[in-house]
Amino acid sequence: MTTRSLPRLACIGECMVELSPADRGLYKQAFAGDTLNTAIYAARSAGPALNISYITALGTDHFSDCMIDLFQSERLCCDWVAKLSDKLPGLYAIELDETGERSFSYWRSDSAAKQMFSRGLSDEQKESLAEVFDLYYLSGITLAILNDEDRSTLKEILIKARRRGARVAYDSNYRPRLWSSKAQAQSVTREFLAITDIALVTFDDEQMLFDDESVSDTLSRMTHINEVVVKQGGEGCTVVCSVFGKQESSQNSVFVPTTPVSHVVDTTSAGDSFNGAYLARRVLGHSPEEAALFAHRLAGTVIQYKGAIIPEAITSQLLEVEAVC
Ligand code: ADP
Repeated sequence: MTTRSLPRLACIGECMVELSPADRGLYKQAFAGDTLNTAIYAARSAGPALNISYITALGTDHFSDCMIDLFQSERLCCDWVAKLSDKLPGLYAIELDETGERSFSYWRSDSAAKQMFSRGLSDEQKESLAEVFDLYYLSGITLAILNDEDRSTLKEILIKARRRGARVAYDSNYRPRLWSSKAQAQSVTREFLAITDIALVTFDDEQMLFDDESVSDTLSRMTHINEVVVKQGGEGCTVVCSVFGKQESSQNSVFVPTTPVSHVVDTTSAGDSFNGAYLARRVLGHSPEEAALFAHRLAGTVIQYKGAIIPEAITSQLLEVEAVC
């Protein structure tokens, strides 16, 4: 098989500089962002069987260069990484209170990624973006950082791509402070759910955004979507897929439990890693249930280590065990 004929996944969003508390009052610097985390875990899960591109805008500064080095070291294609010489990547810092509870401070309101569609990608790149991928992944954070016009541009790209049979995967990843109001977040989320083929949402976020009382409430908003996964933390996830039968009610759903992790170290990127593993397995032909079980194992491993992106040696070990089983 030539590289060109491999399935192609586009992950669209923002990568930021991360500062997390280290020893003696110092901070450790890393890079992270929900869609980037998903891209990296999808790449690690699929290996060379899947071509993954990260779509974003960065600056021309040292941190941006280091981000590109990271993307490339994780085998992500950077052809759609735009560079804006007058902008910088966003930054966030994690603080821990005396009980170990985390809080976040962000400096992202003027980041390069916010302008990926208005000034970053050329018209030619936007056109090819609609044409070359089999699957597009984005999140509510991707949508929240864009202005109305750029969201429309992205929507047009996705509509065009779907017309030729490509699919769109979406995680609502609701972060209230990125939206001007809850009503705006609801309206944009509904707009993009209307062009979603695979919804990978977290029940806690849906509860916060739409006041859902049960997973059935979440599913009832998504009956038009072929494949829906509702992540429910340490319990497991509910999967509804049209391959199980016509999706008319939550009765077609399958609950896929996790193996609960007793010693959780850091839940950062639990949902993102789940999404990356799930999409990789689905694109490679596994059933929704098989994909969810694998995604649970990967996310369950990720939360036993510090940071969004765990060392590659750990994910490799998991994949070796999977290959033997
Ligand atoms: P998010 O990170 O979006 O808040 P969840 O909290 O639902 O998402 O977690 C995502 C995934 O991480 C779950 O579907 C599961 O696979 C895994 N996970 C989270 N918490 C645990 C836990 N305590 N034990 C085992 N797996 C977990």
